[in-house]
Amino acid sequence: MNPVPVGREALTENTLAGQIDLHCHSAASDGILSPTALVSRAKSHGVTVLAVTDHDTVQGLQEASEAALAQGVVLVPGIELTARWGARVVHVVGLNFDRQSTAILKAIAQRDLLRQERAERIAQKLEKRGFAGALAGARALAGDGVIGRPHFARWLVEAGHVEDTARAFKRYLGAGKAGDVAVDWPHLADTVASIAAAGGTAVLAHPLKYGLTRTRLQSLLLDFAVAGGQGVEVVCGQQNPVQTREILALLARLAEQGLPLAASLGSDFHQPDQPWRELGGVHLPAGVEPVWNLWQTGAHKPSHQAVNRE
Ligand code: MN
Ligand code: MN
Ligand code: MN
Repeated sequence: MNPVPVGREALTENTLAGQIDLHCHSAASDGILSPTALVSRAKSHGVTVLAVTDHDTVQGLQEASEAALAQGVVLVPGIELTARWGARVVHVVGLNFDRQSTAILKAIAQRDLLRQERAERIAQKLEKRGFAGALAGARALAGDGVIGRPHFARWLVEAGHVEDTARAFKRYLGAGKAGDVAVDWPHLADTVASIAAAGGTAVLAHPLKYGLTRTRLQSLLLDFAVAGGQGVEVVCGQQNPVQTREILALLARLAEQGLPLAASLGSDFHQPDQPWRELGGVHLPAGVEPVWNLWQTGAHKPSHQAVNRE
C-alpha cells in the first residue's frame, strides 16, 4: 500500500481524539526501531495519527503505511529535511505530501549525495585521530538507511573508543569538533518550495534547538513563513511550558504581521528507554490552530509564496 496524503475522511473526530505525534524516526534514518515496530509502539501509547519523519528519506514510509493500515493508525506521510539558513543548519518537517512526486525525490537525492560526501569526510577525520574503519562501521550500523552522525557516534561506542554517544558528540562529532564538517545543504526557501511542490505542508522543526537569540529566531520564522512555510512545532520532544510560551509569543508576532502559522507537535522519538521522548507523549496548548486543520479543509496549498520555485 502506497502511503498517500490524508484528508477529512481519515481525520475524523474519533481519530483526532487520540494522541497525535507528527515527528519521529525509524531505522530508515537514525531511529532504532523498524517502521513496523515504530507504528506498533505508537499504537500501544495511544497514538491515532502518526507521521514518521525520517531524516532526508521516505524509505520507511511504505512499511510504516502497511503497519498503520493493519493496526488502525492514520499514517501521515512525513520527512525531516536538512536545510541551510544563512550559516545555520535547520530542520524542516514535511507533512502530508505525495512521496512519489519528483519534487520530494529530487530534494532527497540532493541530500543523499551530500550525506555520502559528509560521511566520507567525517571518516577521514576520525581515521586521522586513529579510529580506523569508521566509514565501514558507521555504514554497517546505518544498514540500508540514510547515514548520519549518530551512526558514527554509535560506532565509536561499539568499537570501545568512547563510553556513550553523548560523549562521542562532545569529543568528536559535535559543533567545533573533528567530525563537524560543513555541508552546503539546500537553502531553507528551496526546501519549503520542494515540500510545497510535492503537495505537502512545511513545518519548522524544534525552533528552540538552533541556539538562536529571540531576534534571530523571529527573523528565521519570518523567512520561513514568507517562503511558504505553514507550520511550526510548538511542542517537540522534551520541552517545558516556558519554552512553549516562548514559541507561542513568536507566533503571535508573526500573526500580527499577517503571516499566521499553524501549530504542529511531535515526540522526535528515536529509540526506547528515553522516557522523556515517548511516542505520543506530547500535547498542543489551547488556542492554537493545529496543522491538521489545514488538511481537513484542503487549505494546505500555500497561498502567500512561490510554489513554483523548483
Ligand atoms: Mn535524528
Ligand atoms: Mn531535528
Ligand atoms: Mn527529528
